[in-house]
Amino acid sequence: MALSGAIAKRNAEIKRAAGKVARLVMKFGGTSVADIDRIRHVARHIKREWDAGHDVAVVVSAMSGETNRLVALTAECGVTVDNAEYDVVVAAGEQVTTGLLAIILQGMGVPARSWAGWQIPILTSEDHARARIAEIDTAPLEKGWKAREVAIVPGFQGIGPDGRVTTLGRGGSDTSAVGLAAALGAECDIYTDVDGVYTTDPRLVSEARKLDKISYEEMLELASQGAKVLQTRSVEMAMVHGVPLRVLLSFADPLKPEPGTLVCKEDEIVEKQVVSGIAYSRDEAKITLLGVADEPGVASRIFGALADASVNVDMIVQNISEDGRVTDLTFTVGKADLERAVAAVESNKIKCRELLSQTGVAKVSVVGIGMRSHAGVAQKMFETLAKKDINIQVISTSEIKISVLINSDQTQEAVQALHEAYELETA
Ligand code: ADP
Ligand code: ASP
Ligand code: MG
Repeated sequence: MALSGAIAKRNAEIKRAAGKVARLVMKFGGTSVADIDRIRHVARHIKREWDAGHDVAVVVSAMSGETNRLVALTAECGVTVDNAEYDVVVAAGEQVTTGLLAIILQGMGVPARSWAGWQIPILTSEDHARARIAEIDTAPLEKGWKAREVAIVPGFQGIGPDGRVTTLGRGGSDTSAVGLAAALGAECDIYTDVDGVYTTDPRLVSEARKLDKISYEEMLELASQGAKVLQTRSVEMAMVHGVPLRVLLSFADPLKPEPGTLVCKEDEIVEKQVVSGIAYSRDEAKITLLGVADEPGVASRIFGALADASVNVDMIVQNISEDGRVTDLTFTVGKADLERAVAAVESNKIKCRELLSQTGVAKVSVVGIGMRSHAGVAQKMFETLAKKDINIQVISTSEIKISVLINSDQTQEAVQALHEAYELETA
């Protein structure tokens, strides 16, 4: 069934179940399936839901570290990597965990079978290494459900229009899970190595506080600004298709499930915080073009060249030109795209006095829907960073987010200070 066709069906079923989930997608990340003992633990969570009578589809990641290992093998080949072949290699990790989980579930008396992305199929776009889900045929999984069979689906992988294996970008198993939930009309539980979404990365700031609920919009900003607890695309998809999404701890006792964090519509959140969370990303790089011509069409040529090279540009600042003829332009790109970005600017013969590129920068973002109606949030951010003697290099904002680019060595200090300044540990 196409993703969009499933929305009405899901809503009807959820209502019919009067608050009880009838269809459930459970996703387990890499650390949750890192070895056989952990897979056995995961199987107990699945058995609990299956015992309760629910129809269950499970999405698994590769064992933690495995995708990195496979990526490194492709790099070791020492030649330019063809993305289609990259996908063949890196999609393999998920196939192992689907089979292992099915074997363990069967051993517990739970009928289960593994599927490959191409067998279902999970159809995607043809952009190898960063494909997008186009359509999922849920009929084979639903047929299995009629026989009370648990479907085990590999995250991250699909099949492109040319019939070849694709992958959805790093962290893409979250998106596989939400896509499957949208198509099946199911709720989606993301089990991971933390017990929910926190005010900031609990591994960076020990005072971070777990949130009971967070809106799709805020989660989308946090994810896209670096909170890797959910892949950005998965949140976007959950928001568009209205998929109820929960983040939960996989290491919890399977017989005492914990509530985790619910990602939901804004109007389901009673107490709206001015700032709900802080995200950071050290995967940033800064490019400055000194002395570019200050005339119409220049920005279009620069960013057109970057778009053609598939480089995503994030923050942009252009200085006021002193003499009306030349100006300076600064923008940020992902660290992994820096070389491609510099090559794109240089090969398009964009005239400038000098091109400066810099890594060692980090983006820190404060996010909250309450910002729409409260003044002074940005001021507090700038004041807090100033007190810590942290220099702001670039600023960008959206309706519910303020981001600053700083020296990456100061990331932890900045996030910690902002967490305190907005009183997030007690809110
Ligand atoms: P998985 O392998 O299960 O997909 P990830 O490593 O991708 O897990 O995501 C979970 C990690 O996300 C956590 O271990 C935590 O360090 C990190 N993280 C970053 N920001 C947050 C946040 N705001 N709340 C919770 N976890 C966060
Ligand atoms: N295994 C893939 C990765 O490490 C996908 C995922 O785990 O979400 O990126
Ligand atoms: Mg992940």
